[in-house]
Amino acid sequence: MKFTLLLKNENDSSEPVIVSEIERTGPLNAASLGLTIAESKCLLANIQKELVESQLQCFLQEQRICARCGTRRTLKDYHTACFKSLFGGANLRVPRFNGCPCEGLHTRAQTVKIDGLANWVSPELEFIQSKMAAMIPYARTADLLDLLLPVASGNAPSTVRRRALNIGQRLDAELHEAADATHIECPKAVKNPVTVVGLDSGYVRDCRPHSEGSFEVVVGRILNENKDSRSLGFVRTIEINTAARHRLKQRLCEQGQITDNITVFTDGDSGLRCLLMSALPKATHILDWYHLTRPLTVLKRVLFGKEAIKQFPTYYHDPLCKNLESLKWRLWHGHVGGAFNRIRAILFRLRLPTIAGKQVAVRMRRLIKELLRYLKNNQDSLANYGRRYRSGRRISTAFVESAVNQLIDKRMSKSQQMRWSPIGAHALLQVRAEVVDDRLGAAFSRWYPGFAGQSKPLQVAA
Ligand SMILES: [Zn+2]
Repeated sequence: MKFTLLLKNENDSSEPVIVSEIERTGPLNAASLGLTIAESKCLLANIQKELVESQLQCFLQEQRICARCGTRRTLKDYHTACFKSLFGGANLRVPRFNGCPCEGLHTRAQTVKIDGLANWVSPELEFIQSKMAAMIPYARTADLLDLLLPVASGNAPSTVRRRALNIGQRLDAELHEAADATHIECPKAVKNPVTVVGLDSGYVRDCRPHSEGSFEVVVGRILNENKDSRSLGFVRTIEINTAARHRLKQRLCEQGQITDNITVFTDGDSGLRCLLMSALPKATHILDWYHLTRPLTVLKRVLFGKEAIKQFPTYYHDPLCKNLESLKWRLWHGHVGGAFNRIRAILFRLRLPTIAGKQVAVRMRRLIKELLRYLKNNQDSLANYGRRYRSGRRISTAFVESAVNQLIDKRMSKSQQMRWSPIGAHALLQVRAEVVDDRLGAAFSRWYPGFAGQSKPLQVAA
């Protein structure tokens, strides 16, 4: 059995071109039923080559005619170009036409340019490579594409990396340009006010020699009334103060209306808090409940540990347990003054001569002092967590921690044994944020009018 696939240009009188021949001999078995991946790759590559060459020929004929007087311009020379796409490359001869006499004697010859096409790379190839590279390592992206599609040239891991980082830099430049151009005036017509904003940070291994081992990446998430989320991320040493504020404001404006009723969450990091409050001066800042309880959990573990039970007599141990419980209760209900009193009571007990010198007492005093410092620094950001919780409002940065997980841990985390340069991580983070928010296709549609991205699947003939 033999099939011949022909491609015919309906606007042309030329003969159809054979794009593929599929032959089956021998008995039918599992391996010979239907198309193989090798045949499908060959088929796609041949169709792409024919299509690109025909489209280019048609385009060149139009370009050769002078738009002003209709004269056919003369040919100067050719140069070669390799068009790269998901469906293989096409080696093309691209002519340069001399200037038309109607434009004056000294008009220079011009290379033919296709609107929006830079470096002869198809936007779909850039889109798929950068989208996959934001999710999985560069080498695996190249392998997977190579496995399924005839993307021959322009698919080395280093090329995938370069393209993904270029897209990240383009997104970054676009954001800062927009911020400069609009002076970040939020459109009044945007519905769905922003309700909650949170920032948190994580660490990524540094690849540079003589570096300190890792660097900090800040991640944020903005939620609006519809619970739609918008993510943002940047490397802390790359974007400081104004640039970081621009990024935050730009993302806020994209997400919804800025009102006075916005709640912002952090883990108590003063830099992140300042950044949020400089972008949203009227917002209410709340310290994340789980970061607040973390030191209490450590204290509890020490107090109920074997050492403490051995070193503290029961008549000291029991009141300390009660004080610790009551401290947590007061923090939960937003009784800040009461909480400070409990801390003082605990410190007083730990300084009593009978136990003051014990190892556990020294350790607990250090922990309690750290907690006291943390609470004093964030005194005005302690809410009535109990009341918020009962009324169904947020008390924690869990929604930001999921962003940290999605943006950093899954692609750049230490467990993956990957090392990054701050510039590379920053650029890839921009692509990853767009992928997580499902907005990368929209960015490509802005850059390449008519770009379909992941449009609806084509109808297959019945
Ligand atoms: Zn002319």
